[in-house]
Amino acid sequence: MLPHLNDLVPVEVLGDEGELVIEAGAAAVSARCPGCATASMRVHSRYRGRLADMAVADRASVLRLVVRRFFCDFSGCAARTFAKHSRVCGVGQG
Ligand SMILES: [Zn+2]
Repeated sequence: MLPHLNDLVPVEVLGDEGELVIEAGAAAVSARCPGCATASMRVHSRYRGRLADMAVADRASVLRLVVRRFFCDFSGCAARTFAKHSRVCGVGQG
């Protein structure tokens, strides 16, 4: 149904009277710092971004992406934290 979201796993589906809300997070439990390539599994925080409005089975729906921010543990790196962005093509800009 959503081939561009292959690296995401749904974490929550919330229904209310008018709208279906799907929340998804990246499947990977670790990420590499874009500055120094050190792998990190320590999650700093999470935030939600609205990815797309779409219709699923003729119901108005909202797809939200849960983005994780990780600590970089390499002391020589200028980036103390970094966000793990999933590769999502064709929808949204963040
Ligand atoms: Zn780093």
